[in-house]
Amino acid sequence: MVAVADNPGLNVGGITPFTTIDFPGHLAAVLFCQGCPWRCRYCHNPHLLPMVPSGKHAWADILSWLETRKGLLEGVVLSGGEPLAQRHLIPSVAQLRDMGYAVALHTSGVSPRRFREVLPSIDWVGLDIKAPFDEYDAITASGAVSGKHAKEVLVDLLASGKAHELRCTLDPDYFTPERAAKMATQLAGLGAGHLIVQSCRDNEHRHSKPVAEAIRTAFEQILPNVQYRS
Ligand code: SF4
Repeated sequence: MVAVADNPGLNVGGITPFTTIDFPGHLAAVLFCQGCPWRCRYCHNPHLLPMVPSGKHAWADILSWLETRKGLLEGVVLSGGEPLAQRHLIPSVAQLRDMGYAVALHTSGVSPRRFREVLPSIDWVGLDIKAPFDEYDAITASGAVSGKHAKEVLVDLLASGKAHELRCTLDPDYFTPERAAKMATQLAGLGAGHLIVQSCRDNEHRHSKPVAEAIRTAFEQILPNVQYRS
């Protein structure tokens, strides 16, 4: 049991009080962690990137609020920003579990070490796959180490047998059918069988229909289970 006063907690920049879609099978709240060391060019949450105290939600207040949600919510989703960049992730997850909540982690895999530490306490993982691992820097602008870390996290996740989802955002300025095939081949080589493919949120900025079809074919020829989300 981790005492509230002993844990500075997560640096939370935003909260969604109720979701049915971010943690399969669970009614949940989402805590958006403040701070991410990567700089993906399509990042949907740029306000959550600076690694500074958000000053928005004190951890003790979040725990008090979650006390009032017991019986209404079943789980808590840690999203971001990047939860694995949080120094106090491990004791914070322990506190959520002590309260009876299941915990889901949405991550891009920025820290294999912290991922290994927290994984036993996580019920479900949503892992973003950005690109072929040796080309991660083209998306993350964070060096080749970003792909190395993401690959390590995927290997550990698959080895754990933990419930999870792999998803990829199709950056139209980066993805070609060839790169899709390369990424799918790497994933299949590590033992991954499924992928959820999401379009960038910018509706004006997407692949042309023929290129989108060719990318779809490239994924489906290599991975047995490909699903699409708009
Ligand atoms: S890893 Fe996620 S939060 Fe960080 S920059 Fe990339 S998309 Fe944004």
